[in-house]
Amino acid sequence: MDTATEHSAVPAPEGAGSRVPAQSGPSRPVSRPVSLSPSRAADFMRCPLLYRFRVIDRLPEKPSAAATRGTVVHAVLERLFDAPAAERTVPRARGMVPGAWEELLAARPELAELFAREDGSQDAEQLGKWLADAEKLVERWFTLEDPARLEPAERELVVETTLESGLLLRGIVDRLDVAPSGEVRIVDYKTGKAPAPQYRQDALFQMMFYALVVWRLRGRVPRRLQLVYLGSGDVLTYDPVEAELLAVERKLRALWDAIMLATETGDWRPRPTKLCGWCDHQAVCPEFGGTPPPYPLAVEAQGRMDAV
Ligand code: SF4
Repeated sequence: MDTATEHSAVPAPEGAGSRVPAQSGPSRPVSRPVSLSPSRAADFMRCPLLYRFRVIDRLPEKPSAAATRGTVVHAVLERLFDAPAAERTVPRARGMVPGAWEELLAARPELAELFAREDGSQDAEQLGKWLADAEKLVERWFTLEDPARLEPAERELVVETTLESGLLLRGIVDRLDVAPSGEVRIVDYKTGKAPAPQYRQDALFQMMFYALVVWRLRGRVPRRLQLVYLGSGDVLTYDPVEAELLAVERKLRALWDAIMLATETGDWRPRPTKLCGWCDHQAVCPEFGGTPPPYPLAVEAQGRMDAV
């Protein structure tokens, strides 16, 4: 997501991180941005117009099989820790996949369309392959970490803090490990492949965001950030220092100022890249000959904005 992992294929609500596909649709009210999450910050950096479509217009997006599989895998990795350490085994984890899918489907019946034939019947073969892929991802996790030797302090932890500037940062941390010494490790699971070295900074941005929030909440800079890539079987770690997190804070502040300016002026520029191929909004994007829907928020008089 985003360096892109699969999850970014579906926007999550502001602050909800990225693992739960958002309920989206025309009935959702338009809104002004009120907080920043790693996913939406990444959206704005990737393309301001995409940010507008997702956060302000809340245009619907098609569910994606990859993002939905990520949600199921995350649910299994989280819930496996409910079992006693000795029972956190590969067969148990694999066996939890169908149940996690059924539960998600009950909450989001529209996801059934991912495995529907043209006549509306279920494509059992396609669903079976998709579930098998999810089970493989879960199994690969055991080659990267040993859940029997881990006792997370937190799982799926909603974190939220307001910076001195007034900017509200929100997100969900997959796992927080706390050592007896009090040192904190932030862990995030990715169901995609590890990025090439030149894109690692982008991948770390989300983790630095979380590190900043956890630092503000706990008063201690996290000792380690750990990205676990289930798609390729890689683990990427980084040990942040205070000066880096202060730089992230400045960057987020500047990003938020830019978002606020675009919100007030209605000036959301498209920024085409090769990632446009995965964008659901080409039909309303000027870069592809489309016209965005009327801007739903009041626009400040240009003279006032010039004075800013
Ligand atoms: S198609 Fe590309 S340029 Fe247009 S909104 Fe989507 S990401 Fe932005």
